[in-house]
Amino acid sequence: MSEKVRVAWVSQHTPLQAQIEKLEEWFGNNYTLHQIAQTFTSAEQVYEELEQIHADIAIVVLPYSMTARLLDINRNNVVFLQPVMDKLHTCSPPCKDFNPKTDTWIKGRHYRFTGRYDQIIEVRVVRQPFNGANFTRSR
Ligand SMILES: [Zn+2]
Repeated sequence: MSEKVRVAWVSQHTPLQAQIEKLEEWFGNNYTLHQIAQTFTSAEQVYEELEQIHADIAIVVLPYSMTARLLDINRNNVVFLQPVMDKLHTCSPPCKDFNPKTDTWIKGRHYRFTGRYDQIIEVRVVRQPFNGANFTRSR
């Protein structure tokens, strides 16, 4: 690969050290990382930013509705990834197990990066006709 892989990090949060180390494991120093941390009101705005930096990969931490729209308008075949996080527990303030290299703590919820990213292939809503007659209480 001659040209560096362009990776966009689309999140209000800066990437964790462990999340960056994974990128280094894949690409060595043959990549560039661009954080896009603005507040966006539409997927189109996000996509324009991705086009400006010619992103090959976009790591997104966004609502699924916005991610779904990004996949719809993905005319440049950007690869969309999501860091896979484990929810450990709730704690407040962050507990003694908090590791700044791998963990995030958001409003009392303590998450840890699993070391994996998932590629987002599709965001799906599964529906079926509802007419009242097929209603059964499931609780
Ligand atoms: Zn904790």
